[in-house]
Amino acid sequence: MTEQERPRRVLSGMRPTGKMHLGHYHGALKNWVNLQGEYESFCFVADWHALTTDYGDTELFANNVVDMVIDWLAAGIDPKNASIFLQSAVPEHAELHLLLSMTTPLSWLERVPSYKEQQTRLKSKSLDTYGFLGYPLLQAADILIYGAEFVPVGGDQAAHVELTREVARRFNHLYDAPVLVEPKALHTPVTKLPGVDGQKMSKSYNNSIALREAPESVEKKIRTMQTDPARVRRTDPGDPDKCPVWQFHEIYSDVKTRQWVREGCTSAGIGCVDCKKPVIEAVLGELEPIRKAARPYEDNPDEVRAIIVEGSERARESAGATMQRVRGAMGLDRW
Ligand code: SF4
Repeated sequence: MTEQERPRRVLSGMRPTGKMHLGHYHGALKNWVNLQGEYESFCFVADWHALTTDYGDTELFANNVVDMVIDWLAAGIDPKNASIFLQSAVPEHAELHLLLSMTTPLSWLERVPSYKEQQTRLKSKSLDTYGFLGYPLLQAADILIYGAEFVPVGGDQAAHVELTREVARRFNHLYDAPVLVEPKALHTPVTKLPGVDGQKMSKSYNNSIALREAPESVEKKIRTMQTDPARVRRTDPGDPDKCPVWQFHEIYSDVKTRQWVREGCTSAGIGCVDCKKPVIEAVLGELEPIRKAARPYEDNPDEVRAIIVEGSERARESAGATMQRVRGAMGLDRW
């Protein structure tokens, strides 16, 4: 199959954060599952990216990689449809990153919005490193090495895809060869689910619901979750727009139920306990098949490792072919 004939590709990656939560699921993973039927998918664990901010804390990586991939598999990423791989198992990413670093102006990296933002946000970490400045270029290499036409993005990552396009264009122009494919950002519908306290769902905020969390714990978290602070008593009317439970309804409930919530909340016709019941049922219903599907992998993590090894081999094959063209265009194979 020639480069032109192959199916369209999409590349998605996540840092190895370990067990995933509902925020990850609705914000990205569910979308990956949908995309794998439509595109040739490459899903990777971005362990080198994690090093750009957590280079001093590598202990967690080993368990996090397998734990996260168990969630991917349990949520429906099918290794027959998608190559699941580990970034560091495909060293060609590093080679392309190095070669692109020769041609990419420093100012392009310095102006990436997340560079300054993250340095300010993560003040406790020393991020004045070469690796941290270069991580959008590593990301560009991740995408370009597979000739991925599409990258699913949310919010701030659109700037990274734009940088990737510029990097590819400059390379192709400098070496007068159409080697690197300019990817497009794929704006797919993803949903932001807040944590049980209404803030962004995050393990570090202690407000998350894990995909494989025990049902009793899920129920308790939703039963006790934050509501509209103005509804102190059952007889006080509330405003769903000020309540994180409503955001769960927006994802999980049908029109009729949402109407029931709106009317009942604003007229104090229903209590918060009643209101949370359909959410509890829906979340439990969503998580049960995931927990079930995860069990065989939890019992046999070596099978998960084998899937990652196989996916990494497939990825290497494709990355190797791109690198041959890159080396050729740069004249590195003429000696
Ligand atoms: S009734 Fe529902 S939407 Fe209204 S404050 Fe209570 S939990 Fe929130």
